[in-house]
Amino acid sequence: YSICVRQPIGKKLFQLFCQSRPDLQNYTFLLFKFSELGKCTLSDEKSPVIYNDVILYVLILKHLSLMSNLSAFFRDLDLYLSGKPFVQYQKSMFFDRFLQWKALERQPVTKHCFRQYRLLGKGGFGEVWACQVRSSGMMYACKKLDKTHVKKRRGEAMALNEKEILEAVDSRFVVNLAYAYETKHALCMVLTMMSGGDLRFHIYNIGTPGLERERVCFYAAEVCCGLTHLHQMSIIYRSVNVLISHIRISDLGLAVRLPDGKLAHGRVGTIGYMAPEVIGHEPYGVSADWWGLGCLIYEMTAGKPPLRSRGEHPKPPEMERRIQNEKEEYTKMFSKEIKDLCSSLLAKDPMKRLGCRGSGGSEVKAHPFFKTINFRMLEAGSVDPPFKPDPKLVYCSDVQDIEEFSTVKGVVLNETDGEFYSKFCTGRVSRMWQNEVHLLHFRVVFLRKN
Ligand code: ADP
Ligand code: MG
Repeated sequence: YSICVRQPIGKKLFQLFCQSRPDLQNYTFLLFKFSELGKCTLSDEKSPVIYNDVILYVLILKHLSLMSNLSAFFRDLDLYLSGKPFVQYQKSMFFDRFLQWKALERQPVTKHCFRQYRLLGKGGFGEVWACQVRSSGMMYACKKLDKTHVKKRRGEAMALNEKEILEAVDSRFVVNLAYAYETKHALCMVLTMMSGGDLRFHIYNIGTPGLERERVCFYAAEVCCGLTHLHQMSIIYRSVNVLISHIRISDLGLAVRLPDGKLAHGRVGTIGYMAPEVIGHEPYGVSADWWGLGCLIYEMTAGKPPLRSRGEHPKPPEMERRIQNEKEEYTKMFSKEIKDLCSSLLAKDPMKRLGCRGSGGSEVKAHPFFKTINFRMLEAGSVDPPFKPDPKLVYCSDVQDIEEFSTVKGVVLNETDGEFYSKFCTGRVSRMWQNEVHLLHFRVVFLRKN
């Protein structure tokens, strides 16, 4: 089933297969409706909830006279639930073609598959570069982790963790991983290119620090959706790094996947953004992320993070003292609503914090600050961002201002490292790669026709 729905080329070929069969003419319509009905329920496609939803959907369509033959539809629905077409598909020549694509997908990925352009930023283990896939023209951001740095600072588990989480998450509010490969010196994660760059660059480097209400509201709402997606997969994010023009949560190096109902331990996060319970060595859950959202909304509004003045960098112990004991200040830049939202997210006691009182993200989304946001439209990607990046500009610091990244001397890489590298470098991520070549295919067909 998942081959026919989740993998874009598998899906396309399955559609073609259905069109080639008289008895399956309307079948893909149904399949399409099923996948439209939302990813969260799709994993359990036989659940009665979906069944009811589809029927409801169809009745509405029928009412709108968009559907002519309801009995044929119900026949297809039964067929769908029996799973027969999927089995027939796997015996057809369309599936052989799919397997040929899969063979291509499994070809080794090396640096020669990409062109490298400019430096976009620097992280803890290496640089992030703009790059382009030679064969398709698709632009991505390549996050490189220097092998010697990873080894010196024992970052193996963290790197693998980030890669595996990115691979598993499929959300429009989180950066996607398209390829994972290695060069002689680096481990590379090829990620969705975010043309607007880092949100903090916009808060601090363009005009007066801070953003106008409309943007704060839009970004906060999208971060909220992204956090909800992560939390649904039992992932706590534990950072506050987001990229635009639409929001995508990035840098999942600190994210952690929790087994059902378990809590996280460990003082993990960025100085100044860690929640009081994280600093206080208490076990914690998603509450840490809602605190992080509070910090981000505060920062977008005030043009400075909570509990420190602009340009001030208190020592970690002092920053921790303030987070645990002091209340943040609200100047007149904060409207009544936004002040209420920030102070509920920045409640020191996680039990009293907005987002942590039972209903999770929906509690945050229901706050009056978001009353102008249509979250269903936002989730569907049908709301235009308030700020569109100028395609001629690059929204990050000058290349000269990004410090150079050098390799650590004296670190010797050996066989055990090789084992880790092969776990990390799994090549193309099916969903992403198939989308990429699929797009290319359509462009070619379009050009031919015109
Ligand atoms: P680290 O985990 O080492 O901190 P990050 O993932 O935060 O590294 O990346 C470092 C910087 O690179 C970011 O602050 C951002 O400016 C830039 N960057 C990272 N990913 C992307 C991307 N997908 N698109 C554009 N810029 C990016
Ligand atoms: Mg970072």
